[in-house]
Amino acid sequence: MLNRKVTYRLYPNAAQSEQMGEMLGLHQRLYNTALEERIRVYKETGKGLSFADQCKVLTQWRKAVPALAGLNAQSEQVTLKRLHLAFQHFFRRVKNGETPGFPRFKSIHRYPGWGYKTHGDGWKLHPGENVAHGKLYLQGLGHIPIRGKARTAGTPVTCEIIHKAGQWYASVTLEIETVQRAHGTKIGAFDWGLTEFMTIATPEGIETVSNPRHLKTQLAELKRLGQTVSRKIRMAQSLSGRQRGFPVSASLRKAIRHLARLHAKVARQHKDFLHRTSAGLVKRFGAIGTESLAVKNMVHGGGTHKKGLNREIHAASPAVFLQMTRTKAEEAGSWYEEAPTREIKPTQRCHACWKLPDEKKTLSDRQHQCPHCGVTCGRDENAALVLLRWLEMRLAGASGSGREPSEVWSGGRFAAMKHETPAIAI
Ligand SMILES: [Zn+2]
Repeated sequence: MLNRKVTYRLYPNAAQSEQMGEMLGLHQRLYNTALEERIRVYKETGKGLSFADQCKVLTQWRKAVPALAGLNAQSEQVTLKRLHLAFQHFFRRVKNGETPGFPRFKSIHRYPGWGYKTHGDGWKLHPGENVAHGKLYLQGLGHIPIRGKARTAGTPVTCEIIHKAGQWYASVTLEIETVQRAHGTKIGAFDWGLTEFMTIATPEGIETVSNPRHLKTQLAELKRLGQTVSRKIRMAQSLSGRQRGFPVSASLRKAIRHLARLHAKVARQHKDFLHRTSAGLVKRFGAIGTESLAVKNMVHGGGTHKKGLNREIHAASPAVFLQMTRTKAEEAGSWYEEAPTREIKPTQRCHACWKLPDEKKTLSDRQHQCPHCGVTCGRDENAALVLLRWLEMRLAGASGSGREPSEVWSGGRFAAMKHETPAIAI
């Protein structure tokens, strides 16, 4: 069983939209009240409240407050669970010797939404034809038109309603039994480029995949809008003499919303590009190799939230792309492997003679010129070829970490491949 998330955009009518705003407010107050309760009980008794304790108290609150009784009970438990998780996170970090911030009260502007635990309890998904679009039923709101498409059909399990940049979304978790994904029979290895999205090496030659054409202009537009917002904020700060809690003008609010929407759009389009590209690789190749990412590149958004929006999209893509390719290759039952970068050094090593240069190449060296065998080619091309050769060696049974390729490679599903890819020695 696999779990997949699919995000739908919701199109509530005016009345539903207003009710959703009210529901958001109720969940936000429930969250804050439950937090207040935890603090109060701790001050009075020296003991903390557990999630189960708070669920019991919730039953009493529902009897006393009609508005709370009107909400789906499970969704209220989900809100309490989120608070519980915030505390768990806090205590775990304290235990690790860090100094985390205590769980905070949340303002309605920063309140992200609410969730449901069980399909059929407070919510029901009615997808349209080909599991695309359709309607979402929410208790107390009725049916809301939705847009979005699951890549694979599945059984809905949980649902999160998200309020972001003035729009409503539903993130639905689907349980998928088996994913039917065909894979190709060729062998290929890819490397990240600085100028191109990636360089692919196959026994037939070298190919490059460029970044989507619109990305550059979209990122420039994001940067420009970001600067406008910062300028307006600085102005509001200096006019009011306050760093926080300064009055937000209508034009600043509009600029922030515009920025958030464009950012969401660019991120969505970019993610779609990554999905299509990784699906294309799996469709074509039966064995895919690449270089593992350095840990520092993979920890994205951990701690430093002040990263630029552009960097957020750019910096995250390698890690996201590898994860997508890995998952799709697993679904298809094909061979995917990452070369240990430190050991293989694909940017340093020569693909032709497998030797390392005496002097370390720098990032500015765009050409690979081997001092040992004299071969010359582009830097990215060389790295992709090194990875291809490494993958060929792995498939031939050279020792390495993890699963042994021979086990997978000689399996029933690959029997046909033996004939189709004579280049791979088994
Ligand atoms: Zn060489």
